Amino acid sequence: MHTLIIGSGMAGITLAREIRKLDRERPLTVVTADDGSFYSKPNLSNAFAAGKRPQDLVMTPAERLEQDLGLRILRHCPVEAIDAGRRTVRSAQGELAYDQLVLAVGASQVRLPLAGDAADAVLTVNSLDDYAALRRRLDGCRRVAIVGAGLIGCEFANDLRLGGFAVDLFDIAPLPLARLLPEAAATLLRDRLAGIGVGFHLATALRSIDRDGEGFRLSTGDGAVNRYDLVISAVGLKPNLELARSAGLATGIGIRTDAFLRTSDPDIYALGDCIEIAGHYLPYVMPIMHGARKLAATLAGRPEPLGLPAMPVVLKTPACPTVVSPPPAGPGRWEATPADDGLRALYVDAASGEASGFVLQGACTRERMALAGRMPALVVA
Ligand SMILES: Cc1cc2nc3c(=O)[nH]c(=O)nc-3n(C[C@H](O)[C@H](O)[C@H](O)COP(=O)(O)OP(=O)(O)OC[C@H]3O[C@@H](n4cnc5c(N)ncnc54)[C@H](O)[C@@H]3O)c2cc1C
Repeated sequence: MHTLIIGSGMAGITLAREIRKLDRERPLTVVTADDGSFYSKPNLSNAFAAGKRPQDLVMTPAERLEQDLGLRILRHCPVEAIDAGRRTVRSAQGELAYDQLVLAVGASQVRLPLAGDAADAVLTVNSLDDYAALRRRLDGCRRVAIVGAGLIGCEFANDLRLGGFAVDLFDIAPLPLARLLPEAAATLLRDRLAGIGVGFHLATALRSIDRDGEGFRLSTGDGAVNRYDLVISAVGLKPNLELARSAGLATGIGIRTDAFLRTSDPDIYALGDCIEIAGHYLPYVMPIMHGARKLAATLAGRPEPLGLPAMPVVLKTPACPTVVSPPPAGPGRWEATPADDGLRALYVDAASGEASGFVLQGACTRERMALAGRMPALVVA
């Protein structure tokens, strides 16, 4: 029984480790478009101020993974298509056969459709190679624009500001993390980031980006023009669906899976930022950790359905420590109270009258474990 995993990110490698805990013998191959070394992607957005070089972020090189886990990693080997009927994939290094296939192909940063002659110079940071490019391009820079004041945009703004850059954050929404945080929490986050010198251009649509000598001119819908040495985009993620589509698998926002992380093909499974489970798109570390354990058991012939508890996300914004446990979709209201140099906000579910989500900021973040235990499960097994 040969298991083939496509992707060597957190999902692919964590799954390989979980499989090996249950089965040392089965033939296991990871095929990946990158160099196969293991790193923790969340570290990309707080590495610069800490002076970390890309090689400092590598936790386990590919050769070491191969030795420790007894598997083969095919590096720099993009997979081009899946033939589900023949149970093969076509890759840059030829055809590979599988009995069980796992798609752990992640997601890509959305590119903003900006006018102007420098739209292709906007940088996104979603891999170790991107982080290396970021460090190269920051060399000699002073003014940095970040487009997208979501989780990743705010983290980079905080990190690059601590790294000594003049940072401006742009978003079409009126507040940072507007979709995730209640107004009071988003306002506090904005004010604390502004307090360390981050400039905000909120409720602002971007129109175009043009070259201006070594730098760029960023024009907004209201006619304002600002000059930057570097423009970074962090406007969201879209799951990589091309391979799933080549196999005719069911897709929605992500690759659709059931509670066993099985796709619409019984021999193909999926995990990580590329999947949608029970209608949720959860591009975070914790769902991968939970999912990898369950999927390893299922692949070993002992199927275990995946349930997901509430999984608070910690923002790496030291200017304003923030933890958010997003409520499941459904009517309710936020109740926010300033406390402990921060804020505590609970989302009260309209039907049950119970808290189903929360935000903690400042010193209140120490309550996160206690509160998380009181939240309803996000996905019931
Ligand atoms: C800057 C940043 C900060 C973050 N911070 C946090 C945080 O604080 N907390 C949190 O919970 N989450 C955070 N996240 C999200 C978290 O990092 C991701 O959920 C997680 O790393 C996704 O892992 P993955 O393996 O699914 O995808 P990826 O890491 O994207 O891996 C995908 C893999 O698939 C390979 N691949 C893709 N297509 C092909 C192909 N056709 N052929 C072969 N190989 C292919 C790629 O080479 C790669 O190896 C952050 C993300 C970013 C970008």
